Amino acid sequence: MTTLTVRTERQSQLVDITRLVRDAVAGASGSAVLVYVPHTTAGVTINEHADPMVARDFEMALERIVPEDWRWQHVEEGEENAPTHVRAALMGPSVVVPLRDDGSLALGTWQGIFFCEFDGPRERSVHVSVLA
Ligand code: ZN
Repeated sequence: MTTLTVRTERQSQLVDITRLVRDAVAGASGSAVLVYVPHTTAGVTINEHADPMVARDFEMALERIVPEDWRWQHVEEGEENAPTHVRAALMGPSVVVPLRDDGSLALGTWQGIFFCEFDGPRERSVHVSVLA
């Protein structure tokens, strides 16, 4: 397993980690790669990365779908981040990408892998494992 470090700069921020994942699995042989986010207020998803505005739209949409002003019950002193847990759960904690016979990621033409921050800015970890 390889652990990547991702630094985020905003509360909600999708970060394209496709190149980082590609470099982490370069030369490995296996059937697929598992990308796993070990956090409760961040996730990972696969979507279009040709136009970076798609990521901005995700950030805006998730803030709108899961707003700040509900009567949230998870209210910790100095860390009122209840909606960020739900936004992270909507994206999920992992994705699996098949590997081609030459070891390359079998992503579609327009697809990229995005780390999804919802409680930034922070330094985050992403685990990358090549599956047998
Ligand atoms: Zn919390």
